[in-house]
Amino acid sequence: MNTGILDVRKTYNYLRKTQTHLVQSSEIATACVCQNLFKLDYPYGAIRSDKDYLIANTVHDIMSLCIGGPIIENWQYNSNDYENLTEKIVHDSYNIINEIINYTLDITNRENRSIQHDFKDRIDEIYHGLVTGICKRLMKKYDKPDRIITEITITNIKDHHEGRIDALLEYHHGYGILDWKTYDLNKTISGREKWQLIANNLLANYRYCQDEDDWNRYNFSCIVHNGGAYFPKLETIKKEVDKIKINRKFAFEVLCGKHVRAERPSFCPVCDKGMEGSKECLFYQIDSKLAHEGKLPAQYDKMTRQFFAKRYAILKERAETHLHKHVASTLIDQHGEEEALQRLERTGVICSGYFYDFDIEERVVMSRKDADFSLEPRRIVRIIGIEPKRPFLSCISEQASVMDVSNNKITLSFRSKVAVRRAKKQLFHLPIIMMRDELNLTRSMLRPIHQFHKLAADIFIPQELLPK
Ligand code: SF4
Repeated sequence: MNTGILDVRKTYNYLRKTQTHLVQSSEIATACVCQNLFKLDYPYGAIRSDKDYLIANTVHDIMSLCIGGPIIENWQYNSNDYENLTEKIVHDSYNIINEIINYTLDITNRENRSIQHDFKDRIDEIYHGLVTGICKRLMKKYDKPDRIITEITITNIKDHHEGRIDALLEYHHGYGILDWKTYDLNKTISGREKWQLIANNLLANYRYCQDEDDWNRYNFSCIVHNGGAYFPKLETIKKEVDKIKINRKFAFEVLCGKHVRAERPSFCPVCDKGMEGSKECLFYQIDSKLAHEGKLPAQYDKMTRQFFAKRYAILKERAETHLHKHVASTLIDQHGEEEALQRLERTGVICSGYFYDFDIEERVVMSRKDADFSLEPRRIVRIIGIEPKRPFLSCISEQASVMDVSNNKITLSFRSKVAVRRAKKQLFHLPIIMMRDELNLTRSMLRPIHQFHKLAADIFIPQELLPK
């Protein structure tokens, strides 16, 4: 057998036995607030809020198209008339906003989901607030960028880190990074928002300098919120980097099933005052205290051990969803990008040479000169647009599933019509590589175990063992 193919197979076999976890920037930010909060999601699977993300997702979709459209087209550096500028941009965004709102309403109707009565007004209000923040603060400080790209997933395998950046502003001398916040920040930026931004800065450094600690291309980073914008100073960011790395390592080790003690924040309403904080946290704190004291009923103890075994098996599956990316990165490190991609293509892990043909709703048809059957229907793929001088796993990409493959044509289903529009704007003109990918269903698999765990506690733990 061809040595290139053997090499790819050996890499798969080797990596299957190692830990291929990746920690998301949002998870690092959670761990920075309190490491117990990270554990509540992984491995316990407790949900901390039933927040409806529909408004936030719709605004993110709108911003992802408008920032590279009406906003950059109307960019005015240091304008004194930010109010009129805001109105002009909002007016020019009318078609995009309406199209996305109607599309969202259509989907929720089809799925029989309820929607808030003031959904449209809330979206209009949040968009207006974000554009005001951009015109009043961002454009005041910074010149029009050469290009803006949005919703960029960056994977840095070496540092076990992945994240999705709302927008990257590219200048000839460096980059600026934007993060939209659609909820009210009450004029204060909390640790979580700040840490997510800093974690994403490390990923942007990796994209532009191949090294997360290289700040040479850094220009600014900014959280845009209702009517304002927050710009952390570079010295502040650099001071926080160690905290980010400590918590990324903590999260990685928890995912790998290592026994690491969570550090509580300096003040915790549950632990320090006995006030109501996170009920789920309190539940697991009491559970582990009783286990430590040997007070758990034998049957319950046995059940919880089984719950934890299942939880860690699910986390192992989560690691496997990142396997293809680890293989690609390992081979690129060994052979360089060109040779590694050729080897991966010969093994059917990636395929190249496809061009955009046309799209209908969420579906995109692409074709290539000759037939290729390495991708089968129902496979998940990461469609990567190869950008010059950028690491392979930091290039612009979107996820889609393969619907049909026939001769030299492939039909892909994207996450939404907006993802297709975004891809047409910033991805399809680049040389395309499709890489095998997987869906990550960890949260929805952990959640029922958490519910069973609590149910079992209700049944088996005697009331007198629980704090009054
Ligand atoms: S209750 Fe305290 S220890 Fe638990 S998650 Fe909240 S802050 Fe952390």
